Amino acid sequence: MLPPDPLIPWFDNFLGIAYRYFEIRMNVVPLFSDLKKAQIFWRETVHWWNDHSIKIRFVETGDTYWFIMGAESRQVKNNKYLFKVLPKSSHYERFKKGHEGGAYLRLGTHTKKFKKDVKDDAKCDCGHIKEDHEEGDDNDACLYEDCDCRKFETFQVNLLKKKKTVSDIKFLTEAEIKDDVLAWNCFSVHKYTKRE
Ligand SMILES: [Zn+2]
Ligand SMILES: [Zn+2]
Repeated sequence: MLPPDPLIPWFDNFLGIAYRYFEIRMNVVPLFSDLKKAQIFWRETVHWWNDHSIKIRFVETGDTYWFIMGAESRQVKNNKYLFKVLPKSSHYERFKKGHEGGAYLRLGTHTKKFKKDVKDDAKCDCGHIKEDHEEGDDNDACLYEDCDCRKFETFQVNLLKKKKTVSDIKFLTEAEIKDDVLAWNCFSVHKYTKRE
């Protein structure tokens, strides 16, 4: 593996990462605000990555973690590395425990849905289903007494079909990154060197 080229740009223009079980393996899903952007990013960048060279690094820093991903590309001029500092979540923790050294990489989009958009058994972000929320157009507070949800909302992730297999996944502490070229490169650019 070649050392990461410092000229390859870092890309953080995505919303976050979803972790989903789908087709046996866990999926790591960079989320985009719309389908077009995700498709273009796949076509120009991810499509050209060699599967075996894809690396994902997670570096925890308190309540947040750095997501870092890069790969060798068959079309170097379009190559980009991804990074984002994200809050730890239960999905992240589940991925950390359950990934078994491999994952599928897919791109995805996320959409917010409201009461009128979903079936009766759809789950609100409060954890209760649509039927447990008040009926009527202007009123949809959750009916559970101990729930302070005032409005039915659900965050849905749509996965694009194309996928790559990732088998180089590491969870590192910040003290360990100096031995990892990709993570070190990312922290050097975004944390250790203050750029104007
Ligand atoms: Zn509720
Ligand atoms: Zn609710």
